[in-house]
Amino acid sequence: MRVAVLSDLHSNRPALEAVLHDMGSVDQVWVLGDTVGYGPHPDEVVARLAELGALAVQGNHDAAVLGRIPVGTFNAQARAAVEWTARTIAPATRVWLAAQPDMRVEGSFTLVHGSPREPLWEYLISIPVARLNLAAFETRHCLVGHTHFPLVFRDDDGQVESLTGGEGARLQLDQRRCILNPGSVGQPRDGDPRACFMLLDTEGGLVEWRRVEYPVAETQRAIRSLPLPVSLADRLMVGR
Ligand code: ZN
Repeated sequence: MRVAVLSDLHSNRPALEAVLHDMGSVDQVWVLGDTVGYGPHPDEVVARLAELGALAVQGNHDAAVLGRIPVGTFNAQARAAVEWTARTIAPATRVWLAAQPDMRVEGSFTLVHGSPREPLWEYLISIPVARLNLAAFETRHCLVGHTHFPLVFRDDDGQVESLTGGEGARLQLDQRRCILNPGSVGQPRDGDPRACFMLLDTEGGLVEWRRVEYPVAETQRAIRSLPLPVSLADRLMVGR
């Protein structure tokens, strides 16, 4: 099965459209949370995912928009965007978001937003934290988002190594347990503003990261036309 693994779309419709165009024909689309928040197009992004029959999990921004978790821990810009999103989304968008669990298991893959032991909150960015989490899921592989960094943590006989999933990077999965992050579609933070995602061949175990240009200015214009912090538009151009 050919699967597109997307994360942190953050209500960025032009970025999602560019990614869908680039991925070609796939059997399934998996989404690792933070479908909404920050960006200007929550209804459009969710409608597109619903139409594709995407299998998603909730991220912390999705859960905050649904009122499941308090926004007090979010920074001011993130909170403003969560509050705007919660105020303006269509009922169908809310229903779709609420139908997504915090964790899914698909074949040999566990899907979460943050980490397997803290699905909504934990940032999997360091080897010590990865080591603890490599023991915290039942399947062989785990897919996470949340940090907006394309990254892999792999258990090589007790040694945890990290690998970068940059543009064109490929990884052949084997019996070694690993945690894979596709990077962010809608708000990359690794200094490259292009949308980032992963293609996965579940039988052959081949993973490929892709980087796609999209009309950033279009998303920026939409953000500036709404009561959203302008800094959320500015950061998209620099990928931070
Ligand atoms: Zn995010």
